[in-house]
Amino acid sequence: MALQILNTLSRQLEPFIPLDPAGKNVGLYCCGPTVHDFAHIGNFRTFIFADLVRRYLEFKGFNVQHVMNITDVEDKIIKRVRENKTTLREFTGKFETAFFEDLQTLNCLRPHQTPRATEHITEIIDLIEKLVARGVAYKAADGSVYFSIEKYRGCGCQYGQLVNLNFEEMRVGERVSSDEYEKESLADFALWKARVPEDGDVAWPSPWGEGRPGWHIECSAMSMKALGASFDLHLGGEDLIFPHHEDEIAQSEGAGVQQPGERFVKYWMHGAHLLVEGKKMSKSLGNFFTLRDLLGKGFTGREIRYLMLTSYYREQFNFTIEGLQGARAALGRIDECLAKLREMAGTVAADADPEMLEPFSKALDHDMNVSGAWGVVFDWVRENNRLLNGGMTPEAAGTALATWEKMNAVFALGSAPEAEAPPELLALLEERQAVRKAKDFKRADAIRDELKAKGWIIEDTAKGPRLKRL
Ligand code: AMP
Ligand code: ZN
Repeated sequence: MALQILNTLSRQLEPFIPLDPAGKNVGLYCCGPTVHDFAHIGNFRTFIFADLVRRYLEFKGFNVQHVMNITDVEDKIIKRVRENKTTLREFTGKFETAFFEDLQTLNCLRPHQTPRATEHITEIIDLIEKLVARGVAYKAADGSVYFSIEKYRGCGCQYGQLVNLNFEEMRVGERVSSDEYEKESLADFALWKARVPEDGDVAWPSPWGEGRPGWHIECSAMSMKALGASFDLHLGGEDLIFPHHEDEIAQSEGAGVQQPGERFVKYWMHGAHLLVEGKKMSKSLGNFFTLRDLLGKGFTGREIRYLMLTSYYREQFNFTIEGLQGARAALGRIDECLAKLREMAGTVAADADPEMLEPFSKALDHDMNVSGAWGVVFDWVRENNRLLNGGMTPEAAGTALATWEKMNAVFALGSAPEAEAPPELLALLEERQAVRKAKDFKRADAIRDELKAKGWIIEDTAKGPRLKRL
């Protein structure tokens, strides 16, 4: 069955058909982090969702090109650079590095391309020049360049594709210069912001004088450079629908770079927000968590990833610490079943069971709704546990494991962390090293057998021998 996507653009469930005539290549862009601080767990809900979409498309055999920008220049960043009396690169570099470390902790695949806004100033200026040349952007008296909603609409283009807007209240030519604004302040928005003293050193030369790009144009320029003027999928959190994504469409389609009949983006997917204990996360409420805060409380990236993956992306997700404890327990059930299956399967290798995979992928085909897919996983655990109590063959265990591998390529929960061997066994391992050096191979073999009898085997690694559970 084909994947169906609830497209924010049409508000309809649509079959996913890539633009690629061969139906193979898929371009996916997800707005990346604004690197002004450590990313919080709400941000990571969105990035784990993007990782899930990419992995599921790959599971279905598509060849995905995943792009995620790094917003390393915008209003909030400049404010923080000023407050911290540092330089832009030094400030953003620290949070960018932390962000990639966090993605890895959460087992998110690194996007194929992660362009930085500050390294695309030329492309951004080119795009603004096209908009000015087509008459849909203009330089204002303050030296900044704005997008003209009136002129854009005058060309027969639609502003308000992702949201319904009330143009009655809009005053022609009214401008908004900040990167973030409300739907109510529907107004011409800044593409290029003329340098002001508060910007410090953060400025680049342009045909309109020194300045810096607005946030929205950054994503239009970088996404089209990486994926072409028209691409398949654009993702982000629901807060980005307006103005950010609406403005991205206006800038990208207003530049006239698509072929006739083509759109900037075919499918838009927006993830609902994460709440903590039912409330919007905020530092003042004390319910604000970065990933690092949770790791500091003893939770693992694997547990956090699992928890985030249990909810449908279109629904708000209520994060709680009890939820994380529940995630730990659920993973424990899966891990226990996997350990028993491995023991039973021994060295038997088998293929996955298509009858199990079919309902799993059918559930996800419905707009990435994970609840049905988790139902399949836990039915699988229950059934295997039943069989493991009597009647399971090594071949059946091998098939079950191969099936799990396929499902886990989508959820990417990795495997349970390797248990550390107890100190007395580690001491035996050390003794074995010593007697081997002294060429007492009889004693070395005896130690190996003793370890094996206790359920551990010696594995040679680049870092020397280590103990692994049988
Ligand atoms: P930012 O770094 O603020 O640009 O946000 C990065 C991504 O996180 C964007 O796609 C946002 O829509 C998303 N995001 C921000 N807050 C939340 C939240 N509470 N829950 C889910 N996603 C969020
Ligand atoms: Zn963006």
